[in-house]
Amino acid sequence: MDKDEIKQIHENENGKCFRYCPRCGAEKLYPNTPKTFKCRGCGFEFFLNTAAAVAALITDAEGRLLITVRKAEPVKGTWDLPGGFVDPGESAEETLRREITEELGLDILSARYLYSIPNTYKYGQVAYQSVDLVYRCKVEDASKAQAADDVEAVLFKGHNDIEPENFGLASIRNIVRWYLLQEGKV
Ligand SMILES: [Zn+2]
Repeated sequence: MDKDEIKQIHENENGKCFRYCPRCGAEKLYPNTPKTFKCRGCGFEFFLNTAAAVAALITDAEGRLLITVRKAEPVKGTWDLPGGFVDPGESAEETLRREITEELGLDILSARYLYSIPNTYKYGQVAYQSVDLVYRCKVEDASKAQAADDVEAVLFKGHNDIEPENFGLASIRNIVRWYLLQEGKV
């Protein structure tokens, strides 16, 4: 999604949700910049900042990628990578550790930052902008992963069996396409 599309979504779709000023309550909020709304009444400015999220690339002893199946909307039932949004006050590495424990019951031995990719995450009637930070993670024994929290099931797929189209979130799909191009060299 390019910046013009994001601006359109902010003004049109998100603009329908964010109408009342959270400070003075007047129906005078308008999209001011592609990440803010401003109140015509009291001048209050509300920021819809880009949220940080993490995604983990984990492989088992045979080099197969650990894939999760989404238990919740959006795109419930599609493939995903372990990870999630950074909570307030957390570092990205802390988020990674927390999510891997919550979703898989595994402890991370080491994590190496690879790169980041922007994403638009639609939830409820709001399109949130996020930046997904991708980490290569090592765990003691990936085969011990137990699906929990918002994960329906855990799959392990070798390179030839990974189908990027099965990943419901566009950013994760792109991460997986990039991963496949590396031919296991990450
Ligand atoms: Zn106001």
